[in-house]
Amino acid sequence: MAEFTMELNDEQKEVRDWLHGFAADVIRPAAAEWDEREETPWPVIQEAAKVGIYSLDFYAQQYFDPTGLGIPMAMEELFWGDAGIALSIVGTGLAAVGVLANGTEEQIGTWIPQMYGDASDVKVAAFCSSEPDAGSDVASMRTRAVYDEAKDEWVINGTKTWATNGGIANVHVVVAVVDSELGSKGHASFIVPAGTPGLAQGQKFKKHGIRASHTAEVILDNVRVPGSCLLGGKEKLDERLARAREKAKQGGERVKNAAMATFEASRPAVGAMAVGTARAAYEVALDYAKTREQFGRPIIDNQGVAFQLADMRTSIDAARLLVWRASWMAVNGKPFTAAEGSMSKLFASETAKQVTGQAIQILGGNGYTREYPVERMHRDAAIYTIFEGTSEIQRLVIARTLAGTPIR
Ligand SMILES: Cc1cc2nc3c(=O)[nH]c(=O)nc-3n(C[C@H](O)[C@H](O)[C@H](O)COP(=O)(O)OP(=O)(O)OC[C@H]3O[C@@H](n4cnc5c(N)ncnc54)[C@H](O)[C@@H]3O)c2cc1C
Repeated sequence: MAEFTMELNDEQKEVRDWLHGFAADVIRPAAAEWDEREETPWPVIQEAAKVGIYSLDFYAQQYFDPTGLGIPMAMEELFWGDAGIALSIVGTGLAAVGVLANGTEEQIGTWIPQMYGDASDVKVAAFCSSEPDAGSDVASMRTRAVYDEAKDEWVINGTKTWATNGGIANVHVVVAVVDSELGSKGHASFIVPAGTPGLAQGQKFKKHGIRASHTAEVILDNVRVPGSCLLGGKEKLDERLARAREKAKQGGERVKNAAMATFEASRPAVGAMAVGTARAAYEVALDYAKTREQFGRPIIDNQGVAFQLADMRTSIDAARLLVWRASWMAVNGKPFTAAEGSMSKLFASETAKQVTGQAIQILGGNGYTREYPVERMHRDAAIYTIFEGTSEIQRLVIARTLAGTPIR
């Protein structure tokens, strides 16, 4: 097990500087344009693919860094550049992780390359779990997948919502109910390739922030996929369902805890995105406070402004430490006995909202306009307390973990 460290090693610093260069030179200059256009920034994704930032290999390398700092460092730098564009670059990863976690070697080898495409023809992927009536309450999902044994096909019906890259993806990973008695343990994931009859994009959402990232409904109307598109395969699914039925009879405690561990491990990455946005806004505010003069002196000479910056920096550093700790725990298999993954996401996302708001205040009227980036960063920051589990759900998980009560 790697020791917890608060210092990046030389190799990590090199990667960080390289990512920072890409974020500063390619992402940040394009941010305002794609925010206004509210479209997927394909040329930027293509640039990322050319240099190796848009590929599973790159993220896998960061993920398997035993210090646990690879992923948070990468997320912080890319989201420092711009949250909407960065989500367009890393959003495919959500679907890729779905396949890596549940798929067979053959499925991984077949579908992951099709999710990314290549630098001359980049593709994206979507992970479709949320539904109009199943957001925080994932267990109330309605999308059904029914097995047609005669044809060895699955027939999927339902409506997914809020899917990042939904409808424009080359590969959709769709979570559906296969046994409605088992709650979230009766769910399975399916690959739905682009162009499958019955798969369609519904409404594309016009959003408050991260507007360069495409978010849409996905309609599944009698979608038929071959048996080979069930992630993990039928035999493994049948075994898993039998085990879940058995455990449900015994009270289901261990089942719930296993599901929780998965979320705990992925939440620090979202926390790191929030740290990136918060740091970006703080840096703009600090520069501004040093150069903007009122009453014959820089505004940072007023304690009322300087103290805000002190609080902003303190919260950002605290958030990063919580994220790094949780990420180190996840990679090294340490049990999340106090829901440390949720803690890191909760604190970092609330920090991003707070800090970007303070940055607007420090820039005064300029902060409120699109001439300066903090207005966009504040809009972007609001997503972190909503997706991948809202702040209320993080509190619920932390509280129930401390109380020792089951987490549904
Ligand atoms: C831009 C964007 C991108 C997204 N990308 C994806 C994606 O790629 N794939 C995907 O599957 N999903 C995605 N989501 C969905 C996201 O994960 C959900 O929006 C989120 O889980 C919340 O669900 P909901 O919106 O239905 O809110 P609800 O669950 O309806 O919650 C509404 C409010 O009630 C509160 N609440 C709910 N239950 C409780 C409770 N028990 N105790 C206290 N408070 C509670 C919530 O905290 C929230 O404040 C995305 C969402 C957005 C906005």
